[in-house]
Amino acid sequence: MLSDRIRRIDASGIRKVFDLAATMKNPVNLSIGQPDFDIPDPVKEAGIEAIRAGFNRYTVTQGIPELHDRIRRMLREEKRFEPEATLITSGTSGGLLLAFLATINPGDEVIIPDPYFVMYKHLVSLCDGKPVFLDTYPDFRLRREALEALITGRTKMILVNSPCNPTGVVYSADELKMVAEVVAGRDILVISDEIYEAFVYTDTYTSLASVHPRTLLLGGFSKAYAMTGWRLGYAAGPKEVITQMTKLQQYTFVCAPAFAQKAGVVALDLDLAPHAADYRRKRDLIYNGLVDAGYDVEKPEGSFYIFPRVPWGTDMEFVEEAIRNNLLVIPGSVFSEQHTHFRIAYPAPDETIERGVEILRRIK
Ligand code: PMP
Repeated sequence: MLSDRIRRIDASGIRKVFDLAATMKNPVNLSIGQPDFDIPDPVKEAGIEAIRAGFNRYTVTQGIPELHDRIRRMLREEKRFEPEATLITSGTSGGLLLAFLATINPGDEVIIPDPYFVMYKHLVSLCDGKPVFLDTYPDFRLRREALEALITGRTKMILVNSPCNPTGVVYSADELKMVAEVVAGRDILVISDEIYEAFVYTDTYTSLASVHPRTLLLGGFSKAYAMTGWRLGYAAGPKEVITQMTKLQQYTFVCAPAFAQKAGVVALDLDLAPHAADYRRKRDLIYNGLVDAGYDVEKPEGSFYIFPRVPWGTDMEFVEEAIRNNLLVIPGSVFSEQHTHFRIAYPAPDETIERGVEILRRIK
């Protein structure tokens, strides 16, 4: 009945955690990868207005022109990127799937910095590609020698995610230039997943697309505007790739949700600095709390995750103990080939973060 393809996807790690979590009553939940604020009112209003006005039918496959224009302006002004082509997608996930389907041949190698966003590995496998992991432990930085050592005649793609889920790393301009130098003259597509761009706590943020103009940049509205359920994202990059992604969209997603596209135009005018400042403060709260409790942890520079080393046992053993103590966090092996860390998501009330730190102090 089932395809070989679907058998290649193993979700047992995360399922085990969810099974355990189902037994918890009122957990201290630091596992959720989405903002704890709601969609800003002007964005909600724009969505509701679009629905009321009857903007409820299919849009053109590639997405409405006013959103393309607004995204292009944002890319030019905020990322110094003038892409050949753009496509409105059903979330960043939609963009990832279309990009992989459009470019990966069976056996093609895709370099993924480890730790990684869990979807990458599985979608690459689903598309018959071979994930090749670039070990970035212990500080999660990109190193030239490590990257060069993985390049072969079959390398098709490098996936970069900054700010990063699950580590919170924001790559420096030098690290990104290094990636651009390594792929120079080679037929390797660089994908930059910038979905967490709104949550950066360093002074500067460099988009990979600004140092490597052939980048396929994927972005989305889920995290910045808390629009996770509205399924809106975009892809921007080489015309050759975007054209094929658009063709595939026609036969898969058809278009991104119509009302969400209208709302996206309004969203891009909003100032997100207050939310970023709030999450920066939460970053300090969790980081200082963990350091104070004696955890070995890198200070995150963006996104809303932190990825400490487990103080004892494997990641799964430690997370089981956390769950027994009413704290829900995710074992690092869900995001990594290593079993040594765990992920905390800190978009949560300060009091929840403080209770989480207390439990972690107790079970260390
Ligand atoms: N990329 C990364 C790194 C993510 O963490 C997520 C969401 N967890 C996504 C892409 C997908 O986001 P969406 O499809 O909601 O835009």
